[in-house]
Amino acid sequence: MKGKLKQQPLPPPTTAPHRPRRERLDKQTRARVFARDGGVCQLCREPVRFGQLWTADHIKPSSHGGTGLLSNLRLAHKRCNEARGNRAARTDTGGYVR
Ligand SMILES: [Zn+2]
Repeated sequence: MKGKLKQQPLPPPTTAPHRPRRERLDKQTRARVFARDGGVCQLCREPVRFGQLWTADHIKPSSHGGTGLLSNLRLAHKRCNEARGNRAARTDTGGYVR
């Protein structure tokens, strides 16, 4: 006798216990950051020119409890933000204080 493979119903999608590290900023928030900072990168103080990639940078990283509120965001070139991000990761003391 050949048993027919029964298709198991997929288990219901489980909700992830922890949230993704990067919260997505909506377009409106990004536009507000851009307008508030006058289109000037807050890291190198150069204007963000047409066609340049830019980001709404978290002043306090969201992984450190920073919020996605305007007060915690600043306009930055993508390249400036990435350059800073690498350094910031280095200066982080990863240890746990007991
Ligand atoms: Zn810049």
